Amino acid sequence: MSALLEARGLTKRYGDQLALDGLNLSVAAGETLCLLGANGAGKTTTLNLFLGFTTPTAGTAVVDGQVVADDPAAARARLGYVAEVVSLYPSLSGAENLQFFASLAGVEVDQARRDAILSRLRFPDGAINKPAGTYSKGMRQKLGLAIALMKDARAILLDEPLSGLDPAAANDLVTVLRETAASGAALLVSTHDIFRAKEVASRIGIMRHGRLVDMVDPAKLTAAELEQLYLTHMAERAA
Ligand code: ATP
Repeated sequence: MSALLEARGLTKRYGDQLALDGLNLSVAAGETLCLLGANGAGKTTTLNLFLGFTTPTAGTAVVDGQVVADDPAAARARLGYVAEVVSLYPSLSGAENLQFFASLAGVEVDQARRDAILSRLRFPDGAINKPAGTYSKGMRQKLGLAIALMKDARAILLDEPLSGLDPAAANDLVTVLRETAASGAALLVSTHDIFRAKEVASRIGIMRHGRLVDMVDPAKLTAAELEQLYLTHMAERAA
């Protein structure tokens, strides 16, 4: 299966700091790759390079066949991005926010399609017409995902989507992310949540000091084994 997201030798240096060191990864349709790693491991730098928010020092990021550095706007047009804090206009309704952000992406909002996406994301009935300032973090994340899906983006980046969610909201979002991948999207997710990563990911990458130090199949490990593996890699950092 061809990759919708691909990093080839992707490297980013900020002055003396090697933020990302020769990253190779690919995410195909239907897959969810979760990146785990301590603060400063390079997860956000990876997402920023796919988004074309920063340019690589070496290597290539490719989105759905588009080399990001060649045309960052064209790559972003093929991407959905759900930031850790989804910024919405608080006094506008969810529907108005969605309309606004979809129009920025050049997308006409067809109401039947919008409602089908919201229903698939289990967005609470009627909430779309309430001011976004009243939304929980889980609802904001879902609206961010709805905007990505309205764009028809098949490659979706999510930066710590689970942080700050209560257990029920996190469980709900895990289900939604699984269904989104099953519908043919490729998801690249940065997270600190080892246990949710195991639930949602088809593969888990462990990053340390800008390098991908392990790639594991979560189905082959218990949560406790995954945690131990992660801690072992992090301890190597201190050695
Ligand atoms: P976190 O879990 O805290 O979000 P992360 O894994 O996302 O961490 P990055 O934010 O990618 O890590 O940072 C990787 C390294 O690059 C860190 O050492 C960070 O200080 C450095 N870095 C990131 N952005 C910049 C920047 N704009 N200028 C200088 N250094 C940066």
